[in-house]
Amino acid sequence: MIAYLERFVHGNDVESRQNDNDEDVVDCTSFFDELDLQGSIDYVATGLAGKDFGGLRSIKPLALIRPAGTDDVAMVVKAAAQSSNLTVAARGNGHSINGQAMADRGLVLDMRSMEDVFEVVLVNGTAYVDVSGGALWEDVLKRCVSGFRLAPRSWTDYLSLTVGGTLSNAGVSGQAFRYGPQTSNVTELEVVTGKGEIFVCSETENSELFFGALGGLGQFGIITRARILLQPAPDMVRWIRVVYSEFEEFTRDAEFLVTQQDGDSFDYVEGFVFVNSDDPANGWPSVPLDSNHGFDPTRIPKTAGSVLYCLEVALHYRNTDHPSTVDMDVDGLLGRLGFVENLKFELDLSYTEFLLRVKHAEEHARAHGLWDAPHPWLNLFVSKSDIDEFDRAVFKNILKGGVGGPMLIYPLLRSMWDTRTSVVLPEGEIFYIVALLRSNLPYPKGPSPEKLVAQNHEVIQCCIKNGFDFKLYLPHYEIQEGWKRHFGNQWTRFEERKANFDPLAILAPGQKIFSRIHQL
Ligand code: FAD
Repeated sequence: MIAYLERFVHGNDVESRQNDNDEDVVDCTSFFDELDLQGSIDYVATGLAGKDFGGLRSIKPLALIRPAGTDDVAMVVKAAAQSSNLTVAARGNGHSINGQAMADRGLVLDMRSMEDVFEVVLVNGTAYVDVSGGALWEDVLKRCVSGFRLAPRSWTDYLSLTVGGTLSNAGVSGQAFRYGPQTSNVTELEVVTGKGEIFVCSETENSELFFGALGGLGQFGIITRARILLQPAPDMVRWIRVVYSEFEEFTRDAEFLVTQQDGDSFDYVEGFVFVNSDDPANGWPSVPLDSNHGFDPTRIPKTAGSVLYCLEVALHYRNTDHPSTVDMDVDGLLGRLGFVENLKFELDLSYTEFLLRVKHAEEHARAHGLWDAPHPWLNLFVSKSDIDEFDRAVFKNILKGGVGGPMLIYPLLRSMWDTRTSVVLPEGEIFYIVALLRSNLPYPKGPSPEKLVAQNHEVIQCCIKNGFDFKLYLPHYEIQEGWKRHFGNQWTRFEERKANFDPLAILAPGQKIFSRIHQL
């Protein structure tokens, strides 16, 4: 087998390689025949593996492998470890922005092809679901709710993402203030390390691998199964948006809500910045929750500036709750907030519809040719201590015209994040997630991706120049120096974990943190 690999890898002459070259195909076939995979391998139609949601780069792998299960994953990683320089990238649903799930002339594992795992288990009276690392969160939701009236506690806004993909980052949405990110809501993982070994890990068993893999950017292992904490699923959600003209009032109310005890606040708290104009993508029309709601701009105070703020909250309830009780609870909570009077939008919908709300935005974007266009998105965590200055320098200045899509901003609590995971955060208990979800028409109808990437760079430079305490979320750096700065005093731990679990740096090469160690 190694002989095949050596020939294959050494003959693998970068860009000039023709994937449909017969000789290579023969080599590949022989190699994978030796491996005895239950799944399949594609060395010609590798297009999927060279694309991601960002649409900013296209990197051809050597082969796209569809593993049938954990044994296939382990076999592929072990074989790569015996080669001189092959790398392996797990691909979730390819919703990264900067090629993080790609492998330049390496092997890409399509994790969505993994065998279906779905088992609800009770451990000491608490319900969990075991799912494959390649499962989509939307499927986890539908199956948990329809089969068991149960649901995970912590989500992302959009659910066509894989379990392994979000757990390798953090997984954040409007429930994270209460339950922490998704990485705080798993108790056990099955992981294939960079040595091709299969481990079950948890807080008490192989804990270094468990915490390393959570938020580990795919560097220490491939998550093949996860055990996710469940809770009873509510039936319905009251979804509400209220508008603010002053940033200080918006943040005061958002911080008030996320620091209340369970039962004294909403179940979901997010927010976004929008442009004080009638621009359809960036302005007032982006606020109402359905087309029957109009936005009355005469309500905006005369003192308002170029941008406005929207606090987005939601309250869960049961079908058996009396409507007047729900109204009373909502009014009680809203009564404590200082938003602009009469700029309030409400909608009642099922819990599942609420969690799948971004699916509608996807359908709309697909219909208008926006989904397949490049998405130079930028996500940051910014400390509360710098958020006022960030608003002045970034939202009111650099981005005052909007980004052609949502500019999310909402507070999170550091104490809900486990510092043993690989995620790095700003200092201080309260920090904000800022997400610039650009959704422009493709160039030349819209701005060029280069221009938007340059604007992201300007935002980052502004944070650095002003000495803001911030971290990139879903980070991306081209060189290791950037990563060292990103991890700061956590870099040594990150490096040690790499040396332990993936000493040849085979895994997730698209993150560009470590270079594959070549073997003779
Ligand atoms: P991929 O992009 O395929 O992979 C991401 C990284 O994880 C790669 O390095 C890959 O090698 C690695 N990886 C993938 N699977 C595994 C595995 N099983 N084991 C180990 N490593 C693996 N994030 C949030 O936190 N909150 C949001 O609300 C949110 N909304 C989003 C909305 C949209 C429309 C999009 C496009 C992204 C959003 N994200 C959000 C970002 C999302 O969490 C990341 O893109 C994440 O990478 C998940 O995407 P994926 O499953 O497609 O993973």
